[in-house]
Amino acid sequence: MIPVLIVLNAGSSSVKFQVFDMPDGAEPRLVWKGLYEGLGGAAHFVVKHAGGANLDEISWASGEDFGHEEALMHLVSWLRQHQEGRRLAAIGHRVVHGGEAFSAPVLVDDGVIQTLDALVPLAPLHQPHNLEPIRIVRRRLPGMPQVACFDTAFHQTQSGIARMFALPREMRERGVKRYGFHGLSYDYISSVLKDYDPRLAEGRVVVAHLGNGASLCALDKGVSIATTMGFSALDGLPMGTRCGAVDAGVVFYMLREMKLSPEEAERVLYTKSGLLGVSGLSNDMRVLRANAATDTDARRAIDLFVYRITREIGSLVAALGGLDGLVFTAGIGENDAATRAEVIAGLAWAGLTLDEAANRAGGPRISAGPGPAAWVVPTNEELVIARQTRGALGAVQAKLAS
Ligand code: AMP
Repeated sequence: MIPVLIVLNAGSSSVKFQVFDMPDGAEPRLVWKGLYEGLGGAAHFVVKHAGGANLDEISWASGEDFGHEEALMHLVSWLRQHQEGRRLAAIGHRVVHGGEAFSAPVLVDDGVIQTLDALVPLAPLHQPHNLEPIRIVRRRLPGMPQVACFDTAFHQTQSGIARMFALPREMRERGVKRYGFHGLSYDYISSVLKDYDPRLAEGRVVVAHLGNGASLCALDKGVSIATTMGFSALDGLPMGTRCGAVDAGVVFYMLREMKLSPEEAERVLYTKSGLLGVSGLSNDMRVLRANAATDTDARRAIDLFVYRITREIGSLVAALGGLDGLVFTAGIGENDAATRAEVIAGLAWAGLTLDEAANRAGGPRISAGPGPAAWVVPTNEELVIARQTRGALGAVQAKLAS
């Protein structure tokens, strides 16, 4: 029987999953990938072969009370019916915040869940949804090994200074510092740099993870030394609906002068800002691009997004002491040639020159000339979770055997 593992990435009304074979001694191999969406309402399930061809699809009517628990139980039974020759060995979860406690993936037990629960206030939009399936599996499939893989862990290599805010010491001691996120994505990019150009793996690289969430990471020899996200997933670049960095004084203004409650202010900053807030139209870059010629607010949202990315890249180049490569990844980074072109145009001072034809074709190398190279590299967070889950299980088994 080939052991398989499920990788889960749960949101408020959706669960994305991938199923990997774990052949002995080789890289985990994707078998199926899919999605439950509309959970709690009219739910829909779709699963595809690794190559992308549709394999199965089911819809539930809105009155059927089909939530996260029903989805996970459905997935396990779907797997049983289709997993000929395979055995479910573990479940790996994406968990956005590991705080100071977890600098590596961890096998879940009750103590781990308790520690992760305490981090909910640091990532209120994501952490509760990430923990929900962990609890469900613990209750419904007791004994199933589960591994939590963190978006923060990859950044623990940063220096104390890079992670510090200029706040009183007591606050630092309470854990108020920069954690950084998108670490599973940066881990993947770091692991494949050598396949694109060995000099990147040994050099100074800025990775731009530009999706609905967006951040930048400075990699020195593949290791994170700085990132734009901070204490929460709000900091840094403007995102689909999140504001990115704002002067903390704005928050006091919202509370004191605009009389918003903390919850209302939080909702504005997390869900009504960013591309959506500036454009008043959409958080979706495709919609903004389609309207930018005629809608000045859509154009303004894109311009601010590009301006902030370019400025923050400058900051990370300073932290790295130079630049050998720039990598674009995630939904916008991988697909929006116009954003890549506009960012590179703003980096002429750093020696970057766009190869227009290569950029239109999607890369992988999209720069010309002798300066730093720019690349498009598709990210694969799920593969990192699969690798980490297997690694964590292997470590536990090795410990038990010794
Ligand atoms: P992600 O969170 O990584 O799935 O990225 C979502 C973002 O990628 C959204 O803003 C989408 O509009 C954007 N995106 C996806 N495909 C394209 C595309 N072909 N062109 C421009 N933007 C895209």
